[in-house]
Amino acid sequence: MSARSLARHDAMWLLLPRLAGARRACAEVDPDVFFAEPDDPKAEERTAEARAVCTGCPVRARCLDFALATGQYGVWGGTTEEERRELCRQRAASRPMSALVAEAIRLERAARAAGGQLSVIRAKTVLRISHARAREAVLAARRAVDTEAADLGGAA
Ligand code: SF4
Repeated sequence: MSARSLARHDAMWLLLPRLAGARRACAEVDPDVFFAEPDDPKAEERTAEARAVCTGCPVRARCLDFALATGQYGVWGGTTEEERRELCRQRAASRPMSALVAEAIRLERAARAAGGQLSVIRAKTVLRISHARAREAVLAARRAVDTEAADLGGAA
């Protein structure tokens, strides 16, 4: 079993509590099938085999959510790492600005508590959004946190 497969094994233990009562389709499958190294001549074959195992797996959606949330590699929920990166980009791109601003406010508060300020680059990276959307969210967050601070100052 490869080191990557062992890591998958460990990650599955983290996932298992979320799969209570359900049986995952890959439980009896060699974990190496789910990790095709790019230089592996059987990479396509292994990936296709892993996808086939995932098809119809009763916990596929939860497995995919887990992989998206925790940044797993290999095939999870019937998707490859590349496909999950694209899925993340699509999900982030379709998030409403109000949700992005709420996240940016949280980040701005944390940054100010540490004596700094949320940068557009950091917002772009953390929220996985375009530079333009990050800039808009950061500016709105700064205004909101400035207003909070002014209100607190006025109340004191
Ligand atoms: S979706 Fe695929 S990787 Fe996830 S638990 Fe099911 S069979 Fe395993």
